[in-house]
Amino acid sequence: MSAPSGLPVFPGTVDAAGQPATLGVMGGGQLGRMFVHAAQRLGYFTAVLDADPHSPAGLVSHHHIQTSYSDAQGLAQLAQLCAAITTEFENVPSAALKTLAARRPVAPGAAAVAIAQDRIQEKSHFTASVGVAGVTCAPYAVIQTPEQLKAVPADLLPGILKTARMGYDGKGQARVKNAAELAAAWAELKQVPCVLEKLLPLKAECSVIVARGWDGRTVGFAPQLNVHVDGILAVTEAYEGNMPLALAARAQAATKAIADHIGYVGVLCVEFFVIDDGSEHGALVVNEMAPRPHNSGHYTLDACDVSQFDLQVHAMAGLPLPAPRQHSPAIMLNLLGDLWFDAAGQPRTPDWQAVLALPGAHLHLYGKTDARPGRKMGHLTFTAADVASVKATACQAARVLGLPGFESAP
Ligand code: ATP
Ligand code: MG
Repeated sequence: MSAPSGLPVFPGTVDAAGQPATLGVMGGGQLGRMFVHAAQRLGYFTAVLDADPHSPAGLVSHHHIQTSYSDAQGLAQLAQLCAAITTEFENVPSAALKTLAARRPVAPGAAAVAIAQDRIQEKSHFTASVGVAGVTCAPYAVIQTPEQLKAVPADLLPGILKTARMGYDGKGQARVKNAAELAAAWAELKQVPCVLEKLLPLKAECSVIVARGWDGRTVGFAPQLNVHVDGILAVTEAYEGNMPLALAARAQAATKAIADHIGYVGVLCVEFFVIDDGSEHGALVVNEMAPRPHNSGHYTLDACDVSQFDLQVHAMAGLPLPAPRQHSPAIMLNLLGDLWFDAAGQPRTPDWQAVLALPGAHLHLYGKTDARPGRKMGHLTFTAADVASVKATACQAARVLGLPGFESAP
């Protein structure tokens, strides 16, 4: 696909109506905030559409349109202000992206976002596109009707029932051991369309982030190794040797195939499981994709010469896509709202004094003043000259903060 008219849009320029080059984002969460930071650093003006007056991205953007994602007036205002538009949230109605695309270049497009919004469509897409030996989908069944529930093959149990739509951070999921638990869990989820996935023996989890331009060229980062606690990302380890090279190459090839198959434009993250299949390194199972920068790519802000947010800006604006280079081994620790409470449930400030005294500490807080357990408040990336040092400092920080999920370091 060639770039639509209006692209590239260069930062620092002014259009015929005297309007400075402005990039827009649907959604005002932390991903939008880091997008805004990257766009502004290049010299763009920014506009955020999010109904929340205190949204992390809205707080730092030149423009903040405070309407719902489907508000016709809000969308018209965003299209009027912006030369190109992206999204930071995969559950933005795809109809809204279509409306915007009638007036401005939008990347990723509505069709790609619609696939990522629906696990049933997503799994069909993976099955059709992956085509890399040694990479498969988790065995699954679609459950939309009582007949489909009854017909679930016994070998999918124990499994994880996942709502087809609106799931994130482990929400909308239930682990089930047998047919009775499955039926009860589906009733509990109000019998919305779901997929049942076989519970797999995970050796590890990883993700791959790529950026694909309007010209079909793809650049990307090496796979990150991820540790989840209670269905939420806790730790990302990004350095050479974090996983076997043969697996890393397969994950990258599969991610590129997934992006190419739908002519994707923008930043795409694909999550994989490494499962124990008796082979030396294990096999890869593709789990899900995010049509945007991803929590597991936050380390790129501090450990790479070009971050995932820089690539998002470049891709949507039709600028050249530089191949990123990681200059330091990195470990990222997610900071959830739980850290803002002591054992007695009393509010506290995490011990930043001790954490920030550690070498290579990069603290990112998202501007959320209301801490709640499980809420993503920020992240902390450690960089160092070598892997042993970065593990040691990240481990120290995890101990100081009382963080789970990072027991592997010395
Ligand atoms: P995200 O926040 O990444 O969008 P999500 O809520 O959409 O998360 P998944 O990525 O499907 O959910 O699952 C969350 C975590 O649950 C996974 O990272 C993994 O640790 C575990 N998990 C999910 N599916 C399986 C499976 N089939 N077998 C074993 N563990 C699984
Ligand atoms: Mg996931």
